[in-house]
Amino acid sequence: MPQLSRRAFASGLPLGLIGGSLVGSGLIGSGLAPALSATPGVAAAPAAPVSVTPLAQIRIGRFTVTALTDGYADMPYSYFPGRTPAEVEQAAVAQFTARPSGVRFLFNQYLVEDGERRILIDAGPAGSIGQTGALPQALAAIGLQRDQIDAVVVTHMHQDHMGGLIIGGQNNYPNAELYIDRRDVIYWTDPAKRSGAPDYLQTSFRMAGEVVRLYPKLQAIDGEREIARGISIVDLTGHTPGHIGVRIEDGGLSLIMVSDMIFPVVHPGATDVGFLFEQDRAAAQAMRERFFPRAASEGALIAATHMPFPGLGRVVADRGQMCWQVADWALQT
Ligand SMILES: [Zn+2]
Repeated sequence: MPQLSRRAFASGLPLGLIGGSLVGSGLIGSGLAPALSATPGVAAAPAAPVSVTPLAQIRIGRFTVTALTDGYADMPYSYFPGRTPAEVEQAAVAQFTARPSGVRFLFNQYLVEDGERRILIDAGPAGSIGQTGALPQALAAIGLQRDQIDAVVVTHMHQDHMGGLIIGGQNNYPNAELYIDRRDVIYWTDPAKRSGAPDYLQTSFRMAGEVVRLYPKLQAIDGEREIARGISIVDLTGHTPGHIGVRIEDGGLSLIMVSDMIFPVVHPGATDVGFLFEQDRAAAQAMRERFFPRAASEGALIAATHMPFPGLGRVVADRGQMCWQVADWALQT
């Protein structure tokens, strides 16, 4: 893994240089009601899906990065190997984020625009998990149709990151180049791997086959490289064989989208707790052990798929304990 940013954090630029603005009014009000739960630390299930479309934008030099979300799902406390369900629930209660059925995972996507191209990072589960399928609505809210997306980077071939590539058996982004790490393309299209995999991974295997068939403009990524000026692939192998991140860098500022390096409640405080969908737990843990201290020492601004929307923050070391520090992204000047 390389240095997360080449200039910005090494030179200690203040956080306030990250400009930001709230787009639309959708953020206000979302998520407030559950805080009124009658049970301390446990939020009540909402009566109906949130109808607003949350959007958040920041500027990274000449880039506009818009955080979008396809929705959410609550992951059972038993999905975190390395800790007992009771331990995970206790941690969630302590953080006032416990839900009746588990840990709430957002499914955030990030749109990167440089004035010429529109590059989407991940496509969401698109209804295949939990309360999801909102990404098209989120794009429409900023005036974009799916055929205006020039490229999609899929950070790995789990269904919650690529489901939205296919709608009704069709290519959902007809003009998009598609970037996926070759190790994941090989793994998730291997019949032997599929036949030996548990049921909960079968959807990802099926989707991977469809994606490869429906996207002739798929470019398999081999190692770290720039895919557009200022937009680079970062190798974060572990969660899956070809798990990658995306670094956006310009004008001394940078943001790294790290996908599934960090899960809510359990990370970054521990590296030895994983997630059910990781087949190679040792590899996933090894990457966390490398990544969390590096991210903390560089003060890297991070975007993470499953953290609370908009998923922007930093890993910070507080008296030896790794913590997630939400980025002060809004209304910056
Ligand atoms: Zn994921």
